[in-house]
Amino acid sequence: MTLRAKILLAQTPLAGALVLIAILSALTNATLGRNASSILQDNYRSVLAAERMKEALERIDSAAMFIVAGERQRGTAQAEQNFLRFEQALATQQSNITERGEPEATGLLRRNWAAYRAAYAHFVGGTAHDALEADYFRTMNPLFVNTKNAADRILDLNQDAMVRKRDQARRATERSNAVMIATALLASLIGLIGSTIFTRRILRPLSVLGQTARRLGEGDMEVRAKVSRQDEIGALARDFNLMADKLAQYRKSSLGELLQAQQQAQAAIDSLPDPVLIFDLEGQLLSANRAAERILHVTVEEATGAPLARAEPQIRTVVERVRAKVLSDDAGYAPAGFDEAVRVAGPGGVGNDVFLLPRASRVTTEPGGLVGVTIILQDVTRMLRFDELKNNLVATVAHEFRTPLTSLRMAVHLCAEESVGPLNDKQLDLMQAARQDTERLQQIVDDLLDLSRIQSGRMELHRRRVSAESLVREAVLPFTTAARDKGVTLKTELFPGSGEVDVDTERMQLVLANLIGNAVRYTPSGGTVTVRGRRTDTATVIDVQDTGPGIPKQYQTAVFDKFFRLPGSSSGGAGLGLYIAKEIAMAHGARLTLTSEAGQGSLFTVELPAASG
Ligand code: ADP
Repeated sequence: MTLRAKILLAQTPLAGALVLIAILSALTNATLGRNASSILQDNYRSVLAAERMKEALERIDSAAMFIVAGERQRGTAQAEQNFLRFEQALATQQSNITERGEPEATGLLRRNWAAYRAAYAHFVGGTAHDALEADYFRTMNPLFVNTKNAADRILDLNQDAMVRKRDQARRATERSNAVMIATALLASLIGLIGSTIFTRRILRPLSVLGQTARRLGEGDMEVRAKVSRQDEIGALARDFNLMADKLAQYRKSSLGELLQAQQQAQAAIDSLPDPVLIFDLEGQLLSANRAAERILHVTVEEATGAPLARAEPQIRTVVERVRAKVLSDDAGYAPAGFDEAVRVAGPGGVGNDVFLLPRASRVTTEPGGLVGVTIILQDVTRMLRFDELKNNLVATVAHEFRTPLTSLRMAVHLCAEESVGPLNDKQLDLMQAARQDTERLQQIVDDLLDLSRIQSGRMELHRRRVSAESLVREAVLPFTTAARDKGVTLKTELFPGSGEVDVDTERMQLVLANLIGNAVRYTPSGGTVTVRGRRTDTATVIDVQDTGPGIPKQYQTAVFDKFFRLPGSSSGGAGLGLYIAKEIAMAHGARLTLTSEAGQGSLFTVELPAASG
């Protein structure tokens, strides 16, 4: 059966109830109508007939009065007319006897009427006024009264019957009203219950379908709708189950692919030798590779509550710092140098410490929204070892160079000064060049030694309080000859009250010597180098300004790096001077900055915190 037919069927109890109520009310109406028409038929006609007979009697009586009064002709005509009327009404009454006692009353009326008619026939035969009058009062009038009473009797009988029937009809109406209301209520109730039961039966499979869909949505891929019907809902359930089958198949295949993809991704990060940690935005550890498990003792399962709980505290601090930085800057994180490497106990036990350098990148979705942070802790242990080896090598080589270089310089110096005998011009030129180069070599060796000292962290400062003025004067002095020889004006400007500073004078002299040496070296003949000592609210400042070629913007940071030399610069050392100067300045808590425009000269500024007290 189709769903439409079933829904129609479900309405039948209600429709049946309605039909029953309609039939009942029709029956009630018919009964009421019948009552009304029975009153009309049975009694109203008798009442009318009795009224007419009474009226005809009155007229015949008054006709007799006319005859007594001598108006015989008028009286006779009137009497004849009303005899006829009475007879007709009597005939109507005789054919409409309906009430108890009415046959007797009608019989009495007929007999009285017959007597009255006979009396009239005798009365009308008289002529003398007196005889007529006497006949009227003696015979006619008593018979008139009797006949009229008999008609009244019929009238009363029927009027009583009408009243009685009216009361009966009212009672019947009330009764049938009550019956009808009760029946209507009962039929409606039964109809409603029947319809509800039917409708529920029709709709039950829909709720089964709904429950199945809900469970499917919750992930139960095995659930199916158990509906075995042939209607539209049955068809819907079959289609639904088909869809569930497909979904389960798809889920199985997509789950497989997903698992495979996840395994591949995990394998890829596992293949990396360095620890990799992937965090979501809330700091929950989403994934970690084998190296992270091995070196940091992290497992993703354990990490749900407190990620890195078992990792060493310094790793936790660094990871937290880097993660917060990526989130706040919304950019990846790259370390500034090996100094940021964190030392942790390696998996090989004591003596196998590893150095991890943090680096981080943002994990983003397709439209670029940030969803997490990937932190790679690059194992730089080997690189640091190499660096250390290199530093040691440089330090050793530089150290070993020093003694032979000193005697070499001495020998070249003595030869160039002709202290050990005269030289011809050619020999003198060669010795002069050799002297310059040994000086340069000495400078490089000194720089390398300073560098190794800085890198080994062995830079101890022996601070002492000196005036900025004496610091500047002492620094400038060694360069006056070289400047003059080169044709460069070397000026010293000292503002009054440039104050005192707490510095390791030897090292600070080295800083200034590097700056002034560069300035003199790179300023062409005719230029000026100004060394200025001044004082600000919080610092003592020493400027070294030149009118040389300047340093282009793109190199202004790089010039402070190790072994950096401006492309094309021929003279000078190994590119270590500014690096060493900066490191020494930093160790003093001072700032070394550069302001320069290409072709406009350079200004190096050392900003030393003013000596306290
Ligand atoms: P070096 O000892 O080779 O001079 P530095 O670290 O002192 O190395 O300087 C790095 C580079 O910076 C130099 O090679 C030079 O090209 C540039 N430089 C340094 N000072 C100046 C200056 N006053 N004017 C122009 N270039 C300079």
